[in-house]
Amino acid sequence: MYLLEVRSLTKHFGGIRALEDVSFKVKEGAIMSIIGPNGAGKTTLFNCITGITKPTKGKIVFSNIDIASMQPHKIARYGIYRTFQNIRLFRDMTVLENVLVSLHNQLKSRIFGSIFRTARFISEENEAAQRAMEYLEFVGLQSAAESKAESLSYGEQRRLEIARAMAGEPHLVLLDEPTAGMNPQETAEVIELIKRLQSIGKTVLFIEHDMNVVMEISEWIVVLDHGVMIAEGTPYETRNNPLVIEAYLGKEI
Ligand code: ATP
Repeated sequence: MYLLEVRSLTKHFGGIRALEDVSFKVKEGAIMSIIGPNGAGKTTLFNCITGITKPTKGKIVFSNIDIASMQPHKIARYGIYRTFQNIRLFRDMTVLENVLVSLHNQLKSRIFGSIFRTARFISEENEAAQRAMEYLEFVGLQSAAESKAESLSYGEQRRLEIARAMAGEPHLVLLDEPTAGMNPQETAEVIELIKRLQSIGKTVLFIEHDMNVVMEISEWIVVLDHGVMIAEGTPYETRNNPLVIEAYLGKEI
């Protein structure tokens, strides 16, 4: 079964064709990657899927619903969460508070409850703290819960971002360059984390420049070049596709 279907997706910025007639499907429970040289349209694709950018044309069907014209908060409620290329944390807040902020967007008895400290509000707060700790444990940051986010190493901050995305209880997790700027040890930890996301039933779609990471964990790869999808396939097929080699991998090889 397919969780996400991108159909003839097109996005033009004035005369720039960031995406041109891009179509692919994401299987439920899969780990899939989007690759391509700089300016290929990868981030624009993520922005379209999460509602930050409205497509010029095309459909984005998630769990049988076309989300292409929906607002970002509504798409998030349907179960799509993402991380960004540039880390976006509340640096002054603790690690736990960073996850709680994401969780609070879902809680029900906010304003009234927080003024009058209703029983429901207090029990929701306790439950939220417990859940936040579970997400931190999942990404291996439980012992840093009370530390300031800014005190974390770069790799830890990226894992905290994943914990924050998980707080939205997504079905589909979009990771924008999850290993960018990481050392080999940090990269290995993220690879494990992505596999763990899959093991608990999440579907993962990620943008990545590190071909070792892409080839190691992707079940399926979509290749963009100048906004056009030039190939899709398994790591083996992608690695051996002359169009891909010419457009992108050629430099690596
Ligand atoms: P990178 O690997 O460098 O992050 P990318 O594959 O994510 O690149 P995009 O950032 O999606 O590529 O950009 C695709 C094209 O669309 C580029 O030519 C870019 O300059 C252009 N573009 C992206 N966003 C905008 C925007 N808001 N306004 C105008 N042009 C844009």
